[in-house]
Amino acid sequence: LEVIRAVEPRIADAIGQEVADQREMLKLIASENYASPATLLAMGNWFSDKYAEGTVGRRFYAGCRNVDTVEALAAEHARELFGAEHAYAQPHSGIDANLVAFWAVLAQRVEAPALERAGVRNVNDLSEADWAELRQAFGNQRMLGMSLDAGGHLTHGFRPNISGKMFDQRSYGTDPTTGLIDYEALRATAREFKPMIIVAGYSAYPRLVNFRIMREIADEVGATLMVDMAHFAGLVAGKVLTGDFDPVPHAQIVTTTTHKSLRGPRGGMVLCDSSLADQVDRGCPMVLGGPLPHVMAAKAVALAEARRPEFRDYAQAVVDNARSLAEGLMRRGATLVTGGTDNHLNLIDVASSYGLTGRQAESALLDSGIVTNRNAIPADPNGAWYTSGIRIGTPALTTRGLGATEMDEIAGLIDRVLTTTEPGTTKKGTPSKAQHVLDPKIADEISHRATDL
Ligand code: PLP
Repeated sequence: LEVIRAVEPRIADAIGQEVADQREMLKLIASENYASPATLLAMGNWFSDKYAEGTVGRRFYAGCRNVDTVEALAAEHARELFGAEHAYAQPHSGIDANLVAFWAVLAQRVEAPALERAGVRNVNDLSEADWAELRQAFGNQRMLGMSLDAGGHLTHGFRPNISGKMFDQRSYGTDPTTGLIDYEALRATAREFKPMIIVAGYSAYPRLVNFRIMREIADEVGATLMVDMAHFAGLVAGKVLTGDFDPVPHAQIVTTTTHKSLRGPRGGMVLCDSSLADQVDRGCPMVLGGPLPHVMAAKAVALAEARRPEFRDYAQAVVDNARSLAEGLMRRGATLVTGGTDNHLNLIDVASSYGLTGRQAESALLDSGIVTNRNAIPADPNGAWYTSGIRIGTPALTTRGLGATEMDEIAGLIDRVLTTTEPGTTKKGTPSKAQHVLDPKIADEISHRATDL
């Protein structure tokens, strides 16, 4: 830190404060974790200075032998860990990995047949008329993804996101009574809509997804099954999600982040069957900027860690802890979406349990040293900004070694904060969805306990 302080002390201070915050507060954000020192150190080095567009052995720059070593090892660990035919370790983030996957599927299913019809190998060789037809064909493709309020991600075809502009999109949701994915409704929508891509995977669904059924539906309608396992990749790596619940044997293409339950550096990755490998490997420079070799080095280290037997214990503990947290909350009267969890996250309906918006609950918990995020719940009356839910996950606290007893105590702390918080008012005195009122003495007392944990 002193080296940084000599150049820009405010950055050194911010880093120091971040370390303190992450130590003193309870990190319950379901998409966060604590990467290991080996992973962090692999990221902070001179690989950051190297350009390496292209992929292993096929670079647009000279001098890439060490980057080749790093990228090949990251891909090898990923293939071995997940049992995938092909792995691509370059995506800078989960959203980038999804873009690579979309382009790979479009290249395989739209561009390659158009080139074949025209008898050429490269889009540059298409006539103007064929090129115009191809561009139009790109714009006409359909995607079916999980709706945002049921727990899907913005990149699964939603209008504000580039994916919603690239594809004609429809959503599948959850059953209003059980909160679970309704596979028969999904099948009916797929039969009628005939998407080119079905996207499975979620950011805020606390249950298992049956990828065998998903693939069956995709095959029935001629769609490619893409699974975004960003949230639960660590549970797949740790062999907690196996059989029908492991996406890799079922989907043609799987994307992930590396920094959530997988506990690696901030980044993304694509796994696919060999028929998509060439298209996926063209991700950079077709969709992605130059690779981040320092981050790929850290991905390789984190994936090597995830191949150790201890990681299986970790993944199981993440799920056990989420369940303990769910039980502790429900015993104290909280309502959870779907009535519990099978994975690493819980979604508390704070509107019906505590009369708060997600925004108010999130702020009150933060005042008390508990870091969470507000999240929409299915058919959310408060919309995607204020929301009615709080999403809590256990990957980070499990890394810190906390177990069932601590989870029960944390459930008690969350319940105490939320039962003592009142909705606030705006400056004009009208009811506010953003302001909250919480006795600072209670917030302080709970913060101290959070730090001790
Ligand atoms: N996919 C899913 C399911 C996610 O939950 C997220 C992030 O929260 C992403 C993709 C995007 O990941 P990133 O922030 O690394 O782009």
